[in-house]
Amino acid sequence: MAEMFCVKCKEKRTVDDNAVKRETTAKGRPILKAICPICGTKMTKFTK
Ligand SMILES: [Zn+2]
Repeated sequence: MAEMFCVKCKEKRTVDDNAVKRETTAKGRPILKAICPICGTKMTKFTK
């Protein structure tokens, strides 16, 4: 499970790992992408 912040709900959402995409930005930083299960907004989060 991954905890991510939805900017539209202004609340933290817990997203199942299966629904989280791991990507890398153009600058090489790893990020997580997911869809808020409540409102459907895209959420992104930088990882370490
Ligand atoms: Zn939301």
